[in-house]
Amino acid sequence: MEISRRKFFATSAAAAAIAEQDLAGQTTPPPAAAKPGKLPVIICAANGYKYLDRAWAALQGGADTLDAAIEVVTGPEDDPKDDSVGLGGLPNEEGVVELDSCCMHGPTRRAGSVGGVRNIKNVSRVAKAVMEHTGHVMLVGDGAERFAVSMGFPRENLLTEHSRKVWTLWREVHSNQDWWGPQIGAPNWTAPDGGTAGKRMNRLVEMAASLGIPEEERMDAVRKVLHPPTGTIHCSVANAMGEVSGITTTSGLAWKIPGRVGDSPIIGAGCYTDPDVGSAGATGSGEENIKVAGAHTIVEAMRRGLEPREAGMEALKRIVRFHQDDKNQLRFIGMTYYVLRKDGAYAGVALWSGKPGQTPRYVVHDGEKRTETCTYLLEGETRGWPPIPSVPW
Ligand code: ASP
Repeated sequence: MEISRRKFFATSAAAAAIAEQDLAGQTTPPPAAAKPGKLPVIICAANGYKYLDRAWAALQGGADTLDAAIEVVTGPEDDPKDDSVGLGGLPNEEGVVELDSCCMHGPTRRAGSVGGVRNIKNVSRVAKAVMEHTGHVMLVGDGAERFAVSMGFPRENLLTEHSRKVWTLWREVHSNQDWWGPQIGAPNWTAPDGGTAGKRMNRLVEMAASLGIPEEERMDAVRKVLHPPTGTIHCSVANAMGEVSGITTTSGLAWKIPGRVGDSPIIGAGCYTDPDVGSAGATGSGEENIKVAGAHTIVEAMRRGLEPREAGMEALKRIVRFHQDDKNQLRFIGMTYYVLRKDGAYAGVALWSGKPGQTPRYVVHDGEKRTETCTYLLEGETRGWPPIPSVPW
């Protein structure tokens, strides 16, 4: 059933009250008069920028919204230099690349997902194949890999020489401050102390050189060891008819425990699309996003009438609430949400502002391709998790 525009954008006192109640102390202002968007539109994480044109061309040629989104996300999946997605993704702690992805096709209200997949580069397409060729929504691990091969996806080695060397560097400074141990905010969790970062840095640069990491790549490799990166790509697309789809794909957190699955393949966390409302997706600290079902939370907030930006803020505020507003915990969490309403209104929101001039960005194509800066909730920098390992020298 089509919801009328008036109903969809209804702003009621009840909606505002729900928003306030949900956030328990974090008040979300009632939505202002809804600003209509422009169709069609593509919104995605910044690493999708190079691939927006081909997705836009596909959309203009009548491509389905999910296929257009796949045009974007397969770019980083195929790119060995993007070490957060697909081929060349940074591996788990055993040096094995494991990929996650999920998608939702708005027009047919279907979903597909794969988690912990090895040896198959285009897991976004595999997630779509699960949706189209099975009665299931989610396949994981070895079963997902075998399914992909049965559907004609080639097996290939996803660990590039570059990623292998950065992993070797990480392994050589492996310490007890890694993914093992309590979650952020658990009763026995304590914030790590930074230690003598300068000395460690010099030693790590020397080690990177001895591993044959080229000079121009050394600082980047060291940074990835000290602050395991998040990356990922999410893309949501609305066509001229207001049909929407969304997809997220990732190699997950660098140096994760084998078998770890983050938010990216979780329908409702890494991606959620409702054809009556819109689509949302996430990149960042997957564990935190799973706990607040971020993408679903955002779509539900838009359903209640919140603007895309306010809806994204609501999910961020819920993360803050889960950590009792404790900045000592929150500074180890990074989160960016990409929000698209079915009428084309959109927003990108981030938990932290980052350093001045380095606020997280996202990219959009609505006839004009551009980069936009996220609206942020908290002023300051995230430090990422796990933190700098305490190296014994
Ligand atoms: N959300 C992803 C995960 O937790 C990581 C990321 O966005 O970089 O696996």
